[in-house]
Amino acid sequence: MPKKIIVTGAAGFLGSHLVRELVKEKNNFVIGVDNLSTGLLSNLEEAFNNNNFSFIHADVSQKEIIGHREFKGVEEIYHLASPASPKFYQAFPLETIAVNTLGTWNMLELAKRNRAKVLYTSTSEVYGDPELNPQTEQYRGNVNTWGPRACYDESKRLGEVLCYEYYRLYQIPVKVARIFNTYSAGLRNDDGRVISNFVVQAIQSKDITVYGDGSQTRSFCYVDDTIKALLLMMEKEEANGQIINIGNPQEYKIIDLAYLIKKLAVSDSRIIFKELPENDPKIRRPAIDKAKRILGWYPVIDLEKGLRETIRVYKEKMGISKNGELRVEN
Ligand code: UDP
Repeated sequence: MPKKIIVTGAAGFLGSHLVRELVKEKNNFVIGVDNLSTGLLSNLEEAFNNNNFSFIHADVSQKEIIGHREFKGVEEIYHLASPASPKFYQAFPLETIAVNTLGTWNMLELAKRNRAKVLYTSTSEVYGDPELNPQTEQYRGNVNTWGPRACYDESKRLGEVLCYEYYRLYQIPVKVARIFNTYSAGLRNDDGRVISNFVVQAIQSKDITVYGDGSQTRSFCYVDDTIKALLLMMEKEEANGQIINIGNPQEYKIIDLAYLIKKLAVSDSRIIFKELPENDPKIRRPAIDKAKRILGWYPVIDLEKGLRETIRVYKEKMGISKNGELRVEN
């Protein structure tokens, strides 16, 4: 019997990368679920070529989803569904709250009925604007409940609480990954997050928009590293009932990222400064000792290598040939 696996948010950035890995194992039967609010079906083009993949267009925050007949006998649930870019979660705040709370609850209930394992993708945003660097899993965070990021931060936090309760009350094998900034060319061109913005701007010779003075920091993990960690978390029993930071601890100032992307893309863009968004965290860097200890995992792709690949693929996606000319389709 094949192993039935559900991936919620399958048409999204991380979801589609994860599906791509999971369908390679022919004994897996992967069911992707997405309401396509921010995900794109085109991300799953490759997956549709596999007969061990099926797709359900549905919203996991609706209670009826638990009874879906295709879900019977599911063994593993990767719950990734949620807008993750500030641009999108701020455009859909109530939907974001719903999917991270009701959606998580529904996936946990589904797991309980089928005795399935659950991986819940939480976020470094649970640390808010941190007063501790690097952030360890023990750090309880500094989130403003009355601000534009709260819909994401606080709903992800409540999602963690639901995981905790299902683990404690029903012994569901639940794992919580707190994912830090992740990137690749799989991000939508209009995703709004910093790497996709800067790379697209650099390629198009448009102004590179640094928010604030660019002294705020982030730590960027290439998607292949992140996906490996998620697969390991699902596999390892030692990760049950654990919260684990998943990210790359190399920390960069946003202004330095802008110069690096401009250089690697050989771009003539100007770097300009725009207003810093409200509640924008000033620092972010994961402590990954726990991931190393429990999963034996650490990221191996450094920023420069990841960015080179990201720029190359974005150029391809945007129809720019190797010598920098815009291809004209006949
Ligand atoms: N940022 C920027 N220019 C952009 C997009 C983002 O300077 O065009 C900054 C943003 O203010 C933040 C950092 O880059 O300090 C990372 O932002 P992103 O939206 O990628 O993710 P976040 O980590 O804030 O959720």
